Amino acid sequence: MNKIEALLELQRAWSSCRSCGLCENRNSIVFGYGNPNSQILIIGEAPGETEDRNGVPFIGAAGQLLDQYLGYTSVRPEIQELIESINRSKAKSDDDRKDLRNLLLDEFYFTNIVMCRPPDNRDPLPKEMEVCRIRLLEQIYLIDPILIITAGRIATEALVNKKISITSARGELFDVEIPGRIQSVRYPVLAVLHPSYLLRKNDFKQKGGEGVKTYNDFIRAMTLVDKYNEMHFGFSVVNRPKLEK
Ligand code: URA
Repeated sequence: MNKIEALLELQRAWSSCRSCGLCENRNSIVFGYGNPNSQILIIGEAPGETEDRNGVPFIGAAGQLLDQYLGYTSVRPEIQELIESINRSKAKSDDDRKDLRNLLLDEFYFTNIVMCRPPDNRDPLPKEMEVCRIRLLEQIYLIDPILIITAGRIATEALVNKKISITSARGELFDVEIPGRIQSVRYPVLAVLHPSYLLRKNDFKQKGGEGVKTYNDFIRAMTLVDKYNEMHFGFSVVNRPKLEK
């Protein structure tokens, strides 16, 4: 069975999960979405209202901000053009945002610690995270990324398996042993601030603010993968945007 079939099989196996109480209020199970061959796997906390309605991760306001960060730090001209267009014109921007996400889906895979929306967007409970973890570990095993990005405290703690303060841990690269089917595999896990928090904070224009710090964290993530590709495949990326002050 190839990777795509295996992911579809996994999705099918979890498509009527009732292992925790979150099934009572959900509209959709939000599995995971993106290119199964992505070098970067992005893990959030839990679906929000828009994701629950549509069954797709990170498509609400927080997801749109995440896409902006991924777009701003991209080297692909078609992505840079879309970002400029989104910033220029409000009227066209819904279509542009969809186009942006479609382009990003070539390169990234998005999923969450739990697949179902907790009521009123509360934090997922330990039991809910525990039952969904087997599915998440299978997704990581199948995608086998070069780098995992965790968005926010809950996702980071669940992956690194210890309590953290996300404002101190953001930008930190953790070396995490993830159980596989036969043996554990070590993955670099880079923590970033959750886009919902950044939307509330809204300090994007402030020099040295958390908006800018997060941009730099995404640049670090992309640069790490660039270095991997240079080492393993011999091609170097020269036009990656630079860190900001
Ligand atoms: N926040 C998350 O952590 N995940 C989503 O899919 C949407 C919002």
